Amino acid sequence: MKIAVIGSTHAGTAAVTNMANLYPEADITVYERNDNVSFLSCGLALYVGGVVNDAKGLFYSSPEQLQKLGVTMKMQHDVKEIDPVRKTIAAINLITGEQIYDHYDKLVITTGSWPVTPPIEGIDLENILLAKNYHQANTIIERSQHAQKVTVVGAGYIGVELVEAFEKAGKEVTLIDGADRILNKYLDEEFTNIVEEEFKTRNITLCMNETVKRFEGNEGHVNKVITNEGAYETDLVIMCVGFRPNTDLLKGKIDMLANGAIKVDEFMQTSDPSIYAAGDCCAVKYNPTGGHTYIPLATNAVRMGTLVARNLMEPTMKHVGTQGTSGLHIYGLNMASTGLTETSAKLTGIHVKSVTIEDTHRPAFMPTSENVKLKVAIDPQTRCILGAQVISKADVTQSINTMSVCIQTGMTIDELAYTDFFFQPHFNQPWNFLNKAGLEAQSNEPVPIPQPLG
Ligand SMILES: Cc1cc2nc3c(=O)[nH]c(=O)nc-3n(C[C@H](O)[C@H](O)[C@H](O)COP(=O)(O)OP(=O)(O)OC[C@H]3O[C@@H](n4cnc5c(N)ncnc54)[C@H](O)[C@@H]3O)c2cc1C
Repeated sequence: MKIAVIGSTHAGTAAVTNMANLYPEADITVYERNDNVSFLSCGLALYVGGVVNDAKGLFYSSPEQLQKLGVTMKMQHDVKEIDPVRKTIAAINLITGEQIYDHYDKLVITTGSWPVTPPIEGIDLENILLAKNYHQANTIIERSQHAQKVTVVGAGYIGVELVEAFEKAGKEVTLIDGADRILNKYLDEEFTNIVEEEFKTRNITLCMNETVKRFEGNEGHVNKVITNEGAYETDLVIMCVGFRPNTDLLKGKIDMLANGAIKVDEFMQTSDPSIYAAGDCCAVKYNPTGGHTYIPLATNAVRMGTLVARNLMEPTMKHVGTQGTSGLHIYGLNMASTGLTETSAKLTGIHVKSVTIEDTHRPAFMPTSENVKLKVAIDPQTRCILGAQVISKADVTQSINTMSVCIQTGMTIDELAYTDFFFQPHFNQPWNFLNKAGLEAQSNEPVPIPQPLG
């Protein structure tokens, strides 16, 4: 059995390590255009901000480690063509320029995603950078040493994390986004307002509802960002406006969503039975709507990559889908969300009812306690939980993982009201705030504040 794998970051590394263990007799070859595997982009802002100093910690595998498992590693090899009929691939060795050809019995596509670069005038100027891989992280660090004014375009979680990193490094930071508020895909307004306040008190220039029209430069270096509203001087720009799946190799050859995300079944098999796919190059089943959508996250990538290995020879283990659960830590605020927000529900055309709970994370008799804001979205007809968001200076983000399970298992808000959660004054209240959301949903009256138990 000859297995070819294209791409080895999270989905690829998960697939390869598991396949090497499960099928020791298989001949596995990995094609990776980069010179490293398994870079944890989630640590990029921490690395840029100097919180993580040793870059080695941002990798959990290496070409040598995978080779020790018996895998042939073709590093710095760019796959240029796939012929699904002949089951062949053509690649270029990026060091020697040599063309190589290979064939496969099974092909694993883990080619991931690439940052979107809109066709904006001046986007090719020096010091307009992308933030995805290890080399880009190092370029950002190197260039930011000579930059005082930094502009981040895109206020998703990556842009927002970079804003904090640059501000903490003493830079003058401008954040531009065409949406009316930051993090609008992950959290509702009453949550993002809290984060925006933190930004404003630190003199970060927030340019919401603004679209970049062009970049201007001097001697090839960017020095101004022009939006529909104004002009901002800058020494460095980081583009963080989203990702697109890296799937041009298979366009028209297997089924994809309109944005190019590969459609896989619950066993990670594509519309071509010999081709499996996982990670950012794929669409995922989104449980809150039941549809397929594009949610590029490392969590989805490692699960899907592992499932490719388990299902490659025969269908054994189904993917349970995802809620797109994610978390974020900005200026001491801990936030997380899962499933639908009110905003995303509206955009999807789904009617939800929301319950919001404001509480302290532990009893008042404790020397300190922090406010918690929790919002749960439910289907008003079935009362099933469809989404939840939390924010607090206390780290209560694991509650959102609990809510993710509730969505996945189809739990109703009424069942949540009486679900058994532990109480211990260091951590929480006798009525957990998740219970309280359930109680609140059952009542039009505010839930009475229960007295702490002894
Ligand atoms: C700054 C940043 C922060 C993030 N933070 C988080 C986080 O906190 N939590 C979270 O869950 N997710 C986070 N993510 C998302 C996460 O990094 C991605 O979901 C994850 O990297 C996807 O893994 P993947 O293996 O599917 O794809 P990718 O990481 O995109 O890897 C694809 C690989 O395929 C290779 N490749 C592509 N085409 C070819 C070809 N033709 N030939 C050879 N090789 C090829 C590429 O070189 C690459 O190594 C973050 C992303 C970024 C950029």
